[in-house]
Amino acid sequence: MSGPAHNPLIFPLDVPSLDHATGWVERLRDHVGLFKVGLELFSACGPEGVRAITRAGGAVFLDTKLHDIPATVGGAARSLRALGLAMVTVHAQGGKAMLEAAVQEIGDATVVLAITRLTSLSASLGEVTDAARCAREAGCGGVVCAGAEIRAVREALGPERQIVVPGVRPRGADASDHARTVTPGEAIAAGADYLVVGRPIRDADDPIAAAEAILAEARAG
Ligand code: C5P
Repeated sequence: MSGPAHNPLIFPLDVPSLDHATGWVERLRDHVGLFKVGLELFSACGPEGVRAITRAGGAVFLDTKLHDIPATVGGAARSLRALGLAMVTVHAQGGKAMLEAAVQEIGDATVVLAITRLTSLSASLGEVTDAARCAREAGCGGVVCAGAEIRAVREALGPERQIVVPGVRPRGADASDHARTVTPGEAIAAGADYLVVGRPIRDADDPIAAAEAILAEARAG
């Protein structure tokens, strides 16, 4: 983790409307590090929605998983540049030239994260670490990978780049629909920098207390 004030929690705004999204941002902005805008919300609200979330005080992780020919992904990244995103995702499977185009066009202020492999598709650990190496060579700021892959990906990626991990559950919590989960402490100890945690916070009676408890677990390592 980088810096004492670093908050590793990413809260996914998996909600149908911008009103719901900004409500969550106002509630959690002092308790999580970033807010993830996925395809559902971005398709509904677009760049204006991202601006509204930013105005509400949330740093945005845009999870659009871009994947197309390099010129098209470069063009998308150029369009997204003005949004001042903290992070944006692209598919490592799009290849090195596509990743390079995204990095070049989005600019230095936004971290490009490569999705190593969707967890809905099977992949060997070797394929995942190859994807991480490709992301590093293309100049990506980091990758998204599964909890079980963190140590191998950290080795392939080196110490500087960011690792973001979904499928994180606090100790003793329900796994929801994840085949495998990792606890916040395990993920950080293995080398993760950021943890995507949604339902354990969103569905809690007290979401702020839940976020703080997960943060404490992460920081305890
Ligand atoms: O913590 P929770 O399971 O609610 O998190 C769901 C979020 O994590 C969704 O936004 C989903 O897109 C993301 N996710 C992911 N990769 C996975 C599983 C979930 O990015 N393998």
